[in-house]
Amino acid sequence: MIVVHTLAACRAERQKLGRLAFIPTMGALHPGHLSLFATARKHAPHVAVSLFVNPTQFGPTEDFTKYPRPIETDLALCEAAGVDLVFNPSPEEMYRPGTPDLVVDVPGLTSILEGKHRLGHFKGVCLIVTKLFNIIRPDAALFGQKDFQQLRILTAMVEALDLPVEMVSCPTLRDADGLAMSSRNRYLSAEDRVRALSITRGLFAAEAEFKRGITQTNRLIATIQKPILEQHVNIDYVAAVDPVTLKNIEVVTGPTVLAVAARVGKTRLIDNLVIA
Ligand code: AMP
Repeated sequence: MIVVHTLAACRAERQKLGRLAFIPTMGALHPGHLSLFATARKHAPHVAVSLFVNPTQFGPTEDFTKYPRPIETDLALCEAAGVDLVFNPSPEEMYRPGTPDLVVDVPGLTSILEGKHRLGHFKGVCLIVTKLFNIIRPDAALFGQKDFQQLRILTAMVEALDLPVEMVSCPTLRDADGLAMSSRNRYLSAEDRVRALSITRGLFAAEAEFKRGITQTNRLIATIQKPILEQHVNIDYVAAVDPVTLKNIEVVTGPTVLAVAARVGKTRLIDNLVIA
């Protein structure tokens, strides 16, 4: 496994590889990330991973400085997973002083749901992913459905910019108790974790209700909210949206994303389920 920290080294090492599948991450790797690495193998003989906590996608009051950066463990996990190339740049390498601020945006999709609660977040995501794609020039890139809005925005961006990258969507990995795996779960105390599980319970209860024939989303949303509110977890939003337009849906007639963002103490968690 080759580990590089500069653009020049990354470009040089990439050139030595043929067809390449790429997974951008912020590190603090967990089995959810590793499942993307394993799927990547099916899309290309070589796999590249970036480990970069991207400052431009964090708001001023968010957890950029305290976001976990267990670099040694992450590198060992990449190595064990058979990753060929790891790109681990510094913020100064990615955002060089003197280069102009650039805005990459997908208006309409970036200002709703997560975008409403994390102002500027998706502009930061679009910018870093465009830059990483230009540096690594992957043939395929893999993203988790856990961040379904991010995946939808990036897919639209790739289409609109004619980027020659195949976008691959991967299912959400959950712990045995159902909690969606996330680097931020390591902030949760045992007690917080019990409370966080109300998000999972709400989503699965709504799915069960839908399977029993309930299609009005106001009822499904109330079902999701109930256990979360009972645990005094602060809800940012619970929504039922179209997977492509991300617009609210009133009655389920086709694939619908049930999405939750909530704060357990200081830890902000998101999760979703697609019902159809
Ligand atoms: P992050 O390091 O949080 O930026 O995530 C890097 C990639 O891993 C993103 O495409 C995420 O959607 C994906 N990912 C994060 N958590 C999970 C999970 N539990 N299951 C599947 N993919 C995930």
